[in-house]
Amino acid sequence: MRTAVIGGGWAGIAAAVELTGSGHPVTLFEAGRLLGGRARSIYLDGRTLDNGQHILLGAYRDTLDLMRRVGADPEQLFEHHPLQVIDRQGFRLSLPKLPAPFNLAWGLLSSPGVSWREKIRTAWWMERIKRQGFRLPRDISVAAWLDEAGQTGTLRRHLWEPLCLAALNTPVTQASAQLFANVLRDSLGSPRRQDTDLLLPRVDFGQLLPEPAGRWLQARNADVRLGCRVRQLAADTDCVVIDGERFAAAILATAPQHVASLWPACATDYAFEPIATIYLQFSATTALPFPLLNLLGRHGQWVVDRGNGLLACVVSGHGDWEALPDDELATTLAGELDLGEAAAWHKVIREKRATFSARPGIRRPACRTSHPRIFLAGDYTWDDYPATLEGAVRSGRRAARQAMAIASAA
Ligand SMILES: Cc1cc2nc3c(=O)[nH]c(=O)nc-3n(C[C@H](O)[C@H](O)[C@H](O)COP(=O)(O)OP(=O)(O)OC[C@H]3O[C@@H](n4cnc5c(N)ncnc54)[C@H](O)[C@@H]3O)c2cc1C
Repeated sequence: MRTAVIGGGWAGIAAAVELTGSGHPVTLFEAGRLLGGRARSIYLDGRTLDNGQHILLGAYRDTLDLMRRVGADPEQLFEHHPLQVIDRQGFRLSLPKLPAPFNLAWGLLSSPGVSWREKIRTAWWMERIKRQGFRLPRDISVAAWLDEAGQTGTLRRHLWEPLCLAALNTPVTQASAQLFANVLRDSLGSPRRQDTDLLLPRVDFGQLLPEPAGRWLQARNADVRLGCRVRQLAADTDCVVIDGERFAAAILATAPQHVASLWPACATDYAFEPIATIYLQFSATTALPFPLLNLLGRHGQWVVDRGNGLLACVVSGHGDWEALPDDELATTLAGELDLGEAAAWHKVIREKRATFSARPGIRRPACRTSHPRIFLAGDYTWDDYPATLEGAVRSGRRAARQAMAIASAA
């Protein structure tokens, strides 16, 4: 009997590839017309765009491994840059290509506009949390954690707050310090220098994983059903029944808000955070000094240079921008960019439930459910990380490994 994977985002893709690669027959159900879920390409106004800007890090090992497995070469598909945080107000943290931890130490010490006192205090703080294994005695908000550490100066506004919002999509006053510490552990705090590298996609998101994975699966006789929303899930002792069809096991790899209608026992009560991407087309010669810039605008947080004058501004987390109509939001962001040139075209893409809100003490469900043949995958089930592609991929692989044992016995 086949194993069913419900949801063709990066978690579901990872699960389907893991199962197929181990010789287990798979049916992958995806409600949308394309694979990729929240990290997918979309076709609008005759252009291929991404539904949101995704920044990957060298620390995303499972994701990079999965890409290689389906024939997508990360060396070709990403620009690799040593981490740089640069903003419009002149702040710059650039990590040189030195072995860790000298890269971070040098980056901090050479950062302009930060007092020596603050640099040294920050270097000590980083060293202390490293010695503590990035484990906090209790989970508190990132704001409270930074206050306790005396991180109240330039680095807070220009480094920690933007990094927290980018990584957790949750403002520092509400974000979990433990999840932020986990992100720091595997990036800035990693002993592997390459983990801190920024990986900026050279191609649209479909080409990074969803499209090559779809081809890879189909070439190996996986049954990939696009535009196929699962309506009903029932389970017996010897099988799982999906819309009347029998399977050995099922992996639910949907976003958390979609689990309740399929398997109410696994419902969560998360709050969510939105993200808007505002694409602005300027003349082809317009370029940013670095492809990722912290805008520090009233609304806009980051801007990504997509090449040929196309800039993608990112607004994350709840705020009064949500009430602005698309045209007004685009005009406001163009004003914040202040390039002295009007945008010839714009498009706003809003994801109202882009990610779960990564709050202190947030409860994360296990991969195993109350039914031995039903497993959960998805970014929200990987409790070490906030909502990330890497968490999604790791969760999918883990669910596949657990489902295989049951499926083999069926
Ligand atoms: C705008 C934006 C920017 C982001 N930026 C970053 C970033 O920079 N770095 C990073 O690491 N992460 C980022 N993320 C988070 C990342 O995209 C997610 O963590 C990841 O894509 C989640 O994957 P998933 O497979 O767990 O869930 P999803 O991608 O939500 O996949 C679930 C899939 O299940 C399908 N589905 C739901 N119900 C059914 C059903 N009944 N039957 C069949 N199919 C169903 C859905 O259509 C969907 O395709 C960002 C997210 C957004 C939205």
